[in-house]
Amino acid sequence: MEHQHHHEHHEAGGAGVARLEFIVREVSPTEALVRYDCPCGCKPSTEYVRDSAESDHEHCCCGNVHFVGPNARADLDQYLAERRATGEDDDVGGYDIHEETLAAPWGGQIPVVYGLPHRPRKH
Ligand SMILES: [Zn+2]
Repeated sequence: MEHQHHHEHHEAGGAGVARLEFIVREVSPTEALVRYDCPCGCKPSTEYVRDSAESDHEHCCCGNVHFVGPNARADLDQYLAERRATGEDDDVGGYDIHEETLAAPWGGQIPVVYGLPHRPRKH
């Protein structure tokens, strides 16, 4: 069941969030959904397959972007470098990068890396 949370956020200056709270959901014994409730109202999610070397990622409309998988950091860096090169992120002014490790449903760990834009876009 999907639960709807309606939290009122009153953020001074609208400077965006400091970090994201990820939720890991078991899809199958070898697949997990990694998602978060974005402050902009979206629910970006990625799928990670157990022991996979491939990253999955989701880039929210507001600019928050997250990658899951063992190569998440390198893949995120490359993704953002390409966007910077083409000027696609000129309006957000760069990203703060965060790394964390989530507990996988099968007992291992899922690395997650995410970037929070300095100037989030409007939803
Ligand atoms: Zn968002």
